[in-house]
Amino acid sequence: MQALILEQQEGKTVASVQTIDPDRLPEGEVTVDIDWSSLNYKDALAITGKGKIIRNFPMVPGIDFAGHVHASEDPRFHPGQQVLLTGWGVGENHWGGLASQARVKGDWLVPMPEGLESRKAMIIGTAGFTAMLCVMALEEAGIRPDAGEVVVTGASGGVGSTAVTLLHQLGYQVVAVSGRESTHDYLRSLGASRILGRDEFAESRPLEKQLWAGAIDTVGDKVLAKVLAQMNYGGCVAACGLAGGFALPTTVMPFILRNVRLQGVDSVMTPAARRAEAWRRLANDLPESFFTHSATEIGLSEAPAYADKIINNQFQGRALVKIA
Ligand code: NDP
Repeated sequence: MQALILEQQEGKTVASVQTIDPDRLPEGEVTVDIDWSSLNYKDALAITGKGKIIRNFPMVPGIDFAGHVHASEDPRFHPGQQVLLTGWGVGENHWGGLASQARVKGDWLVPMPEGLESRKAMIIGTAGFTAMLCVMALEEAGIRPDAGEVVVTGASGGVGSTAVTLLHQLGYQVVAVSGRESTHDYLRSLGASRILGRDEFAESRPLEKQLWAGAIDTVGDKVLAKVLAQMNYGGCVAACGLAGGFALPTTVMPFILRNVRLQGVDSVMTPAARRAEAWRRLANDLPESFFTHSATEIGLSEAPAYADKIINNQFQGRALVKIA
């Protein structure tokens, strides 16, 4: 089997495509023949070594994949069945999806939802799944489409672009925040009604003019601080990312004077029932046009170059990795 292998050489992470014996796959009840994987921000951090994602080398990266069951000791899965996986530490501390096969726990797999197949599932990937969890968090906080504008930061990225699409599709007025002029046409085509520059979010006071009913933040740091200061009374921010940094230079003012809710969103350990619900929603709520808009297909050997592009903010949408 073929795999992208990450190794450490003189303290640096080195990535190469290698042919390896499937017997080297880690333990697990289900072996999957992978059709498609994708590159997420976390994969880019792992492959470039820019983030301390991986502690044990050699490692096969790839935090998500879709394919069909090759062999299973878990009665819930049978050979040939289409499945997908995101999270659970796969591609971080258990060999992941940037390979022709993976062996994983049955508990980690999601049967392919009706209306999706491997390629579409990986256009969505961890990024799209996380966007859906963020939208669900806003819904659960009572933010309805008529409540006012919803702002999405890091809008041209994988999470951001899917969040813009989903919110627009569900009838919300979506305002996109992007650091790049070149993404504006793309964001409008996904459904953003207005686009603001990231530089407008550089500095903030503890409280500012109330602008947003809801927010999905993939950036963190000063951008998230500004968004919090601009939330409407009773608004909710679903925060899932740190593309701009992990700091949060804010005050308690939005929380204690405007009843603002800051809802964290994690996709890695999401329980199975919520996972299934999010995937069902994704299959239903994403328009067909989403799948033609946002995917760039690459091969396994191109993954390191695209990881660099992601880290250097030179890529938009989703990088889809063709395995089979
Ligand atoms: P992408 O790289 O696809 O997108 C990130 C976007 O953030 C970029 O497209 C860019 O958007 C913006 N951005 C990039 N660099 C900076 C910067 N220095 N300052 C401010 N904005 C920046 O990543 P994903 O969409 O896959 O992931 C987004 C974030 O969400 C990441 O931090 C990732 O780790 C996190 N994440 C968290 C998950 C969870 O479970 N909590 C799951 C998945 C992702 P633009 O050019 O439009 O400004």
